[in-house]
Amino acid sequence: MSTEFTYDAVVVGGGVIGASCAWHLLDAGVDDVLLLEKDRPASKASGRAAGHLSTYTSRKFEEPIRRYAIDFHRRLAADHGSIDLHEDVDHVLAHSQRGVERLRELHELDPERLSLVSGPDLAEAGSPFNADEVLAALVYDSAVHTDPYALTMALVSEAEDAGATVRLEEVTGLDRAGSGDGFTVTTAADAYAADVVVNAAGAWSGTVGSMLDVPLPVKPRTSQIAVLETHEPIEIPMFHCPDLGLYGRQELNGDVLVGGGTSTEIPDPDAFSTRAREAFLREVSERSWRIADALDDARLVNDWAGRCTATPDRRPLIGETAVPGFYVCAGFNGGGVARSPFAGRLIADLVTGVDTDFATEPYDPSRFSGTESFGVKSASTDW
Ligand SMILES: Cc1cc2nc3c(=O)[nH]c(=O)nc-3n(C[C@H](O)[C@H](O)[C@H](O)COP(=O)(O)OP(=O)(O)OC[C@H]3O[C@@H](n4cnc5c(N)ncnc54)[C@H](O)[C@@H]3O)c2cc1C
Repeated sequence: MSTEFTYDAVVVGGGVIGASCAWHLLDAGVDDVLLLEKDRPASKASGRAAGHLSTYTSRKFEEPIRRYAIDFHRRLAADHGSIDLHEDVDHVLAHSQRGVERLRELHELDPERLSLVSGPDLAEAGSPFNADEVLAALVYDSAVHTDPYALTMALVSEAEDAGATVRLEEVTGLDRAGSGDGFTVTTAADAYAADVVVNAAGAWSGTVGSMLDVPLPVKPRTSQIAVLETHEPIEIPMFHCPDLGLYGRQELNGDVLVGGGTSTEIPDPDAFSTRAREAFLREVSERSWRIADALDDARLVNDWAGRCTATPDRRPLIGETAVPGFYVCAGFNGGGVARSPFAGRLIADLVTGVDTDFATEPYDPSRFSGTESFGVKSASTDW
């Protein structure tokens, strides 16, 4: 197949990460950017996330990452009426004495941003959390969530407005055009010449890497959500319960979204049911009453599963691979929506060779050989 079209950069994957990479490349002055998506934009993990942009775990991000992401999301929301950013208060709940100890340790690490409240004080303040079960809570009052589908679609349209070409074609082959001469990107419909290729294919990034014989330690894993309708209306703030392996928040219509639970490796991301698994729904029904009485006997009104990714150290791979010009931006371990602004910006900084505000080593793909064995774990049991 002849390569009729030539691009400075081809981004593989139309999720939140690919869209952010495409926009940031154009913003950094890369002229011709092609975004290739095999299905529909936001049709995989990005459209199925809980949409938490800022939670108590944000403190784990380095400050420049956190600051850049928040400012970027606020600018995007100001320009797109489809995006609502909901301010919330995140509560990390301890259901065990060990959990209380962990909360004390976490509080000591960041007393400015987190406050520690005892179970009785929570109940006294009229909190909806189960007064008999919740022993203490760490409160983070700068939480933000949004609709991740709307966010991703807005980013894709921003990238298009900035000049990106978006095509719904599956990348089926990648070849080096010759030493230092870029790549040929083959799809079912066409072939494209590109100086740079960015692999932002989420759960498929290992498959895309293998097209250039680049092994990547990125495993697809499940992440699941159940939506509950309570018998009596409740008002519940954002919560994370590492003791129970669950997290959640209120939906706009009053239902309660509960995520987390058992996470397993996905052997084949193409053969994947997007319904939640029985085991997860059982965990939700057996445990969620311990979060709030009102969740006891709540009715399951919706559920779904999505394809998250895992890496050995649970940090993403962002940077150039062993093949010059072939970049990877994948392996976000359940936090890719929140970190997408930083990820796109870092890729653009690395591709254009400018000094970056971000540390690169923690994300450098070369920290792994790509062939190491490792297990997958859900972040919902993390403190
Ligand atoms: C239930 C659930 C809850 C979550 N909650 C949160 C949360 O609250 N906050 C948060 O920050 N993150 C959350 N996440 C994680 C977040 O969704 C992901 O980290 C993020 O969406 C990853 O984006 P991505 O673009 O890498 O992947 P994806 O959205 O999966 O996009 C990859 C795209 O690549 C395309 N593709 C694959 N192969 C090819 C090919 N050969 N050619 C062309 N296109 C290809 C796919 O079709 C897909 O659209 C959650 C995830 C799930 C499933």
